[in-house]
Amino acid sequence: MTTNTTDIMEAVAIFDAPGKGRGLKATKEMWAGDVVFSEAGLAAVVFDSMAERICHSCFRSQPKLQRCGQCRFAHYCDRTCQRAGWAEHKDECGAIKTYGKAPNESVRLTARIVWRLDKEGSLVTDTQLTTVEDLEDHIFGMPDDDLQEIKVDIHNFLDYWPRNSKQHRVDDLSHIFGVVNCNGFTVSDQKGLQAVGVGLFPNLCLVNHDCWPNCTVILNHGNQSAVNTMFHSQPRIELRALGKISEGEELTVSYVDYLNVSEDRQKLLKAQYFFDCTCDHCKNHTKDDVKMVPEEQVKEASDYCRVTLEKINKSRLSGDYHEVVVMCRDCMKRAEPVLAETHIYLLKLWSTLSEVQAYLQFIDDAADLSRKVVEGYNKIYHPNNAALGLATMRSGVSHWQAGLIDVGHGMICKAYAILMVTHGPTHPITQDLEAMRMQTEMEFRMFTQNEYVYHSMREAALKNRPMTMMNEPVSVQDGIKNLFHRRK
Ligand SMILES: [Zn+2]
Ligand SMILES: [Zn+2]
Ligand SMILES: [Zn+2]
Repeated sequence: MTTNTTDIMEAVAIFDAPGKGRGLKATKEMWAGDVVFSEAGLAAVVFDSMAERICHSCFRSQPKLQRCGQCRFAHYCDRTCQRAGWAEHKDECGAIKTYGKAPNESVRLTARIVWRLDKEGSLVTDTQLTTVEDLEDHIFGMPDDDLQEIKVDIHNFLDYWPRNSKQHRVDDLSHIFGVVNCNGFTVSDQKGLQAVGVGLFPNLCLVNHDCWPNCTVILNHGNQSAVNTMFHSQPRIELRALGKISEGEELTVSYVDYLNVSEDRQKLLKAQYFFDCTCDHCKNHTKDDVKMVPEEQVKEASDYCRVTLEKINKSRLSGDYHEVVVMCRDCMKRAEPVLAETHIYLLKLWSTLSEVQAYLQFIDDAADLSRKVVEGYNKIYHPNNAALGLATMRSGVSHWQAGLIDVGHGMICKAYAILMVTHGPTHPITQDLEAMRMQTEMEFRMFTQNEYVYHSMREAALKNRPMTMMNEPVSVQDGIKNLFHRRK
């Protein structure tokens, strides 16, 4: 694989994390926004459902892709991407042709891993801290349904795997399928808004979970305006420090959204990653009372919200946005007088409605609702949480579009500060934000100097250029729910 940036791995070391097995610790002091390490990954594949919409080399979503003339399955931005991805695709291309179709994403990913290990040995780079062999597969104790799926996958793998390639024992294959099943990392598109594939990043697999972590992980596709070779390179992950980390401290990320109360987080972690979380926030039920008040008088409103939110989600996924607006309004009427403004159901209602209203161009309403969401998130999330940063960004943009330049600019600046930590300066979203920050700063200066001139200029600008549409709310909703990808 050609990589333009070398992996950094000198600030971390493997150690025995008490009660958790292996973990990673810092070998030197670090600060908010520091890149703890970066890793290119062993292999990654595009989801079955995205095969024709995402480049199989750089994982960017593009309106028009070129198909591989050989297998007719892989798609690429252009010849440069196809050439850059050929080393990973070559064996796969031949196998797909012979097999007559492309197998599912788990089989494709496992095959890419096995080809790579066969060719390069168990340690592909000298910065890889663990072999795939040593990673957890959780096969023992796995629910029967999952085991059954792995059996089917192995069966398909054996049909797909070329006769003239090195043959492998079923036990070794089931280990890799198990590893991919619980450690496969969700690869997002260049904006980080949509899950588009799955990959294996062995060093990242060593980072244990904490509900209140000291690191965050972000996929970086590189700077679009940078040199061409960078543009076509495969996505890399970066582990970034959220605050000060002392030498010797364990490095952690959160596998689940902290917005969930501790009981729900623990259920999710158990079902998806097979462990019981014993972090301080779970033990002490920290902030559970802020997110959900357990008293009797609000139970009815709370239950009503939970049921309605499920219906709202369905309508949103099917694109029935006007129905979403009606249901959200109705639910808010019942919930707002009783539930605290940090109650997670209320936050979910507001964020859903604000995204839909932004899409439908009801900008004032979108701005109001998104501000309530940000105010609630501020009381719950870590100040450098990525979800808080993105919500602040969306709210800032809505305020800007609604003509509230002072609030809009302030929020865009705040979001920029958070994303500089969680995403870093070269991430495409941070760069979009920087452009918006400069634009709103200029408009804000104009506004403070002469409000009349500002408003007349703004009106003229709006007449010439219709406001850019917000993302369709479905794509935001589809976003990255879980760090590690599991089927279903
Ligand atoms: Zn590409
Ligand atoms: Zn091909
Ligand atoms: Zn926890």
